[in-house]
Amino acid sequence: MRGSREPILLSRRNRSYRLILGSPYRAVFLLLLTSCASTSRDHEWSIDREPSAWEVRGLHATLWSQSAAEFQALARQAYQSAGARLNQALEDPAWSALSPTTGDRRAKPPAVILDVDETVLRNTPYEAWLVREGSTWNRENWSAWCRQAAAEAMPGAVEFVQRAQAMGVHVFYVTNRSRRLAEATRSNLAKVGLIPVPESVTLVFKEDEAAWGGEYPKTGKIHRRRHIERDFRVLQVFGDSLADFAGGDRLVPEQRRALVEEHAERWGKYWFVLPNPMYGSWQRAEIGYRRLPPSETLRKELDGLHPFRIHPSR
Ligand SMILES: [Mg+2]
Repeated sequence: MRGSREPILLSRRNRSYRLILGSPYRAVFLLLLTSCASTSRDHEWSIDREPSAWEVRGLHATLWSQSAAEFQALARQAYQSAGARLNQALEDPAWSALSPTTGDRRAKPPAVILDVDETVLRNTPYEAWLVREGSTWNRENWSAWCRQAAAEAMPGAVEFVQRAQAMGVHVFYVTNRSRRLAEATRSNLAKVGLIPVPESVTLVFKEDEAAWGGEYPKTGKIHRRRHIERDFRVLQVFGDSLADFAGGDRLVPEQRRALVEEHAERWGKYWFVLPNPMYGSWQRAEIGYRRLPPSETLRKELDGLHPFRIHPSR
């Protein structure tokens, strides 16, 4: 949901927010960067200073998302589980991912709704660039990345979309990217095989939320989903953020977790979530949806932890 991510101001020239980590983390960080530098041909990287806690925060999340086999397995697990249920979804007349599952809904054509960023497209090279540059999201660097149309597909996503389309299911990509990135987004999706049948794919952008009666970002994707549901029977929904499935913006962490439980029966059957530890509304919820400098963001995040206490032995 990159279009809605609020930038935290930090430039490479301004590292005054730095929090220095202890030596065990420092050693791991230096080792990782040394390893990265040895394999990178287009970017000479060296570190001659202490890494900041802010950099390490981004490093771990991005490295896991880009390199961990477990990330790859989780994405495949989501898409393969969903694909295995498509037949059942099509044959069950009451199947609906968004409404109560009653009545015969087969008069409407079947569809699936997928978010784009960190759901079907992987932006880890962009995140890696941010970490190495000591920078944060802004409209310019995000647009520069998107316009390259160079994101790879999420593991399992292409197979799922192609399978769904072969079964006559319409594919909606509901993204919080801006419509000004429409051409680049469509180009990227097509390049990786996520638009196998162009006439049965529809891209829906953040501007469409207001066009269909919502108030972006307050209403998230609620009105876009409703609009699609007027003409289609939505079988499954995919996303990396809670707002891809239910609820709007600005929910506090307790409300977000309650919403998951409220819809407990939908996960893994109608709704499929992809892992994204790099950014998202989960993180903005932790800091109260405020624009804070990195040092305050980190302090808020540390405050959000609930550690155990060692009881002195007797
Ligand atoms: Mg997303």
